[in-house]
Amino acid sequence: MFLTLLGTGCPSVNKDRFGPSNLIYTRKTKILIDCGSGVTQRLLQAGFKGADIDYLLLTHLHSDHVVDFYQLIISSWHQYRKKKWNIIGPKGTKNFLFSLMDSWKKERNARIKFEKRKSTEGFKLNIKEINDNNYFMINDIKVEYFKVDHKPVVYAYGYNFINKNKKITISGDTKPCKNLNKFALNSDILVHEVFIEDEIIPERGIRSSQTVHNVKSYHTTSRQVGKIAKKVMAKNLVLSHFVPPVFNKNKLRKLVKKDYGKSPILGEDLMTLDINGNIV
Ligand SMILES: [Zn+2]
Ligand SMILES: [Zn+2]
Repeated sequence: MFLTLLGTGCPSVNKDRFGPSNLIYTRKTKILIDCGSGVTQRLLQAGFKGADIDYLLLTHLHSDHVVDFYQLIISSWHQYRKKKWNIIGPKGTKNFLFSLMDSWKKERNARIKFEKRKSTEGFKLNIKEINDNNYFMINDIKVEYFKVDHKPVVYAYGYNFINKNKKITISGDTKPCKNLNKFALNSDILVHEVFIEDEIIPERGIRSSQTVHNVKSYHTTSRQVGKIAKKVMAKNLVLSHFVPPVFNKNKLRKLVKKDYGKSPILGEDLMTLDINGNIV
C-alpha cells in the first residue's frame, strides 16, 4: 500500500501546494480522498487518472476539500471512464453532489449529445453517506472511518486504510479529539493536518485576531500535533494541509520533533511514501 500526497495546501492559493487531496493505492485498488483544487492535474503528474479511481472518499464538505469535484467527473469522462463513481462522504454529501451535477446538467447533456463519446457511466454517482464509526472493504483495503472534531462543521471524518496489517491514518480536518487518538493508535503513517502557530498573524483590514483565533480553533496546531503523534505511537508522522501554506520549515520540524521524539515528514505535493514511511 502506498500514499501519494496530491495536495498539501489549504484554501489559500499557492503555486506549490494545491488543495487538499490524497491517493491511497495498491496494485488492485485506487482510493482518492478529497478532491481539492488541482486534484486532476496532480493525479496525472503522479501517473494516475481520474478514470481509474475506484472510490472517492470525502472527509467533510468544506470547499477546499471538494471544489474540484466536477472537474474530476468531467475530465474522467474525457479519459474514457466507463464505470460509475462510488463515493463515500458525510451526511449532506448526496444533496451537495447531486445539486452540483444538477447545475451542470444542461451543459453536460449538450456535450453528451454533441461529443458522442462511448460511455456515460462516469456521470453516475453511487453515494453512501456515513455515520459514526464503522468500516468496509474496498478490494484488498479495509477502510475505517471515524468522526473527528472540526466544529462548527458537524460532520467531519478521518479514515484508516489497512492492508496486510499495516495502517495509514488520514486525520481529515480536526482539532485534537479522543476519537482520532483511538483510531490512529499504532498507525504506520499518520497524515495529520496542521495549523502553524505564529505564521498567521492579524493584519489590519485583512484578518482580525478573531479570524486567526477562529481558524485556529477548529484545527490542530503545531504545538499539539507532535504530542498527538507521540501519544498514538505513530511510526511516521506526515504533516499536510498546512495552514498557512508558506512557513518556516526548519522551525516547524524542530518544534514538532521536540514533542514527537523524531522528525516529522513535512509533506509536499506529489510526495509518495511506502508503508514504512520511505519516500519513493
Ligand atoms: Zn475544513
Ligand atoms: Zn481544509
